[in-house]
Parts: sequence; C-alpha cells; structure tokens
Amino acid sequence: MNLELQARRQIELDLRVALAEGEFHLLYQPQVNLTSGRIIGCEALLRWNHPVRGPVPPSEFIPIAEEAGLIPAIGDWALRRACHEAAGWRSDVKIAVNMSPAQFKNPNLPHNVVLALAASGLPAERLELEITESLLLQDNDTTMATLHRMRELGVGIALDDFGTGYSSLSYLRRFPFDKIKIDQTFVREMTTDADCMSIIQSVIDLAHTLRMKTTGEGVETVQQKDSLQVAGCTDAQGFYFFRPMSGKQIADLLAPGANRETAA
Ligand code: C2E
Ligand code: MG
Ligand code: MG
Repeated sequence: MNLELQARRQIELDLRVALAEGEFHLLYQPQVNLTSGRIIGCEALLRWNHPVRGPVPPSEFIPIAEEAGLIPAIGDWALRRACHEAAGWRSDVKIAVNMSPAQFKNPNLPHNVVLALAASGLPAERLELEITESLLLQDNDTTMATLHRMRELGVGIALDDFGTGYSSLSYLRRFPFDKIKIDQTFVREMTTDADCMSIIQSVIDLAHTLRMKTTGEGVETVQQKDSLQVAGCTDAQGFYFFRPMSGKQIADLLAPGANRETAA
C-alpha cells in the first residue's frame, strides 16, 4: 500500500510540471452519423506522455489530477487546444470536450469557455461539452446555473457514459441535454445479450421522446453498428469507424476531397 501511495504521489508531482513542460497532447476520435455515414464531430481525448514512463492512460492520471486540484488548469488547456484545432475543420464538424466535475464547480467556467471560443474563432454551436452523471449527483445550484449558462451561450451538452452510474431518469428531467452517450459496456454486449439490447432500445426511445440525440460509444463491429442503426441511434463512435488520431490526421481526413469517411 505504501508503494502504491508513493507511486501516486510521484505521479501527482510529475503532473504538476507536465503542463508547463508540454507533455500533454490531444487525440481526436470522429463521431459518425449513422444515417449519412458522415463525420459530425470529434471527441478530444487527453494524452500524457511522461518523460520516463511513456504514455500514461487518462483513466490513471485524471483521477489523480482531480484529487490534486490540477484539473481546472489541465482542463482549460484541453478546451483551448481543442477549440483552436477544431476552428480549422469543416464548419459542420463539432468538437466534443470532456469535462471533469471540478471544472463545473469553478464559477469562472463560462468565462473560460467564452475566452476559448473567442481566442479560436470557433462558433459556440460547434462546441459540445461532455459531462458525466457524477456531476449531477452533487446537484448544487452552481452546477445547474453553469449548465444553463452554457446553453445560453449556444454550447451543446452531452451526458457521457450513460448506463454506468445511477442512470437516473431524474437527471434527464433536470437538464435538457443535447445528447446522451450510451456507454461502451452496453454496446459491447448488445449483440449477445437480449436484455442489454432492450435497455439500449429504451434509452434511445426515451432520448428521442425528449428530443435528445444518442451516440453509441465503443462500436467495434459491424453487428454493433447495424443494431444501433436499427434501434434508431443517431450517431456512433468507436474503433469500427475510427481510432483516436492526431490533429494532423483529422485535418487530412476532413480536408475537402478526402472521401474516406463514408468507407465504414
Ligand atoms: P470517454 O469520454 O468515455 O471516452 C471514450 C473512451 O473510449 C476513450 O478512452 C476512447 O479511446 C475509448 N474508445 C473509443 N472507441 C473505442 C472502442 O471501439 N473500443 C474501446 N475499447 N475503447 C474505445 P480514453 O481516451 O482512454 O479516455 C478514457 C476516459 O478518460 C474518457 O472516457 C474520459 O472520461 C476521460 N478523458 C479523456 N480525455 C479527457 C479530458 O480532456 N478531460 C477529462 N476530464 N477527462 C478526459
Ligand atoms: Mg467522453
Ligand atoms: Mg464515454
């Protein structure tokens, strides 16, 4: 346990300098509309290239960064970087940025978003923030006010990883999300487990009734893609379509004349 604590402490110390040392970068994973086959957005995914340990997965360092109070700075960097990158893409492609609850607790978040949009020239409508249920669990007035402020700005809000937490229906009532992202644990089993398929179908139907879009996450096979499409899911994302890729690769993929996106 002591060793584990020491390792964690070391990661925390290393994270404190990682931003200044330029050790972070973003990858982008396309999101595809299931009807048209077109790329409608890309999700920005944070990567940390540790000078000694090499790539550290976000599942490992983000919880530590959250606890150490480093997320507001790292999150703000990611937001600015993602908006800047997306401003150069085709104008019908959105950028989705993951947000930690700690960022929403900061009353300056709307201001930071406005600054990131202004600095990049990206229209607010092309930015989508992904939040998880854990944010709504805390349910305080600041969080709700911030969510509504984002909506006023024109920024989209997606509920990420739906199905993994409490999946409380009351969250869907409390805020009019633009999109529900169905977690990959459900998508993975949907073609082998009839109950799983029924749950996904219900979530898609519910979202449809509430005028929210749906994105199936972690689509790896054509069967999963087809089942989501038949169920009426709006969009999908996963290795079947595209793996997360560099800004340069995305720019090439989205360049006029590049017609590889409908290949899947
Ligand atoms: P997420 O937001 O649910 O992101 C989707 C994750 O699924 C990404 O993992 C992506 O690489 C992975 N993925 C996409 N398609 C497939 C597939 O077909 N199969 C499988 N097995 N996996 C797939 P990644 O990049 O490791 O990110 C993990 C989590 O870390 C994200 O989950 C998100 O919660 C968090 N994260 C990533 N970037 C940021 C960030 O900038 N800020 C914050 N706060 N969290 C972030
Ligand atoms: Mg996400
Ligand atoms: Mg997710």
